[in-house]
Amino acid sequence: MALVLVVEDDQLVRSALIRHLTREKHGVRGVGTALEALREVTRHPFDVVVLDLGLPDLDGGEALKMLRGISNVPVIIATARDDEAEVVRLLNAGADDYVTKPFSGEHLEARMAAVLRRAGGRAGDGDAGDVLRIGGLRVDLRRRVADLDGTPLHLSRREFDLLGFLAARAGSVVPRREILAAVWGQSYGDDQTIDVHLSWLRRKLGETARQPRYLHTVRGVGVKLEAPP
Ligand code: CA
Repeated sequence: MALVLVVEDDQLVRSALIRHLTREKHGVRGVGTALEALREVTRHPFDVVVLDLGLPDLDGGEALKMLRGISNVPVIIATARDDEAEVVRLLNAGADDYVTKPFSGEHLEARMAAVLRRAGGRAGDGDAGDVLRIGGLRVDLRRRVADLDGTPLHLSRREFDLLGFLAARAGSVVPRREILAAVWGQSYGDDQTIDVHLSWLRRKLGETARQPRYLHTVRGVGVKLEAPP
């Protein structure tokens, strides 16, 4: 039994997969775009993602790269292209396995079982990997709670998404474009959206843009979360 995210824009294929996986007692969520998938992955601790390569919003390779930027969840690529070079490229880019369309539910099931075995029982082995600690900041991705120096932070859903996304990549400058995609599900948007939420988050962390402790804006590039020195 696993929690599976099915990313497939063809509604018939998606429903068939969801039906099959649900019948096999898996927990399943289905989405039709890469951006929705990125958002789902920040919100739920999936055991495996089945990623269709031909999605309407992002190229499969791009989607995989962004997914890898935020999560180590095992990814099985579903491809209609019988293109060995492409598959090899994606396996090198962090995909765990692939299935070629059309494939049966049983076939996917077998690939999933192999991927989950290789992931070494990471599924359901407690929440060690879901709790991030950056200095005095603790972010529990599974339970969606955070505290600073032992004091719980009262965050809105978006604020938590933003904090969790940055915390998972602590120490790196995260491009604004990736933040917009993962937290707001938009490929383009107003930078002010991020800035407004950042300033709310800063207030709750007891800091300001002028005197940052955890949240650092790198002008023209993105945002970095790191422990204060
Ligand atoms: Ca497709």
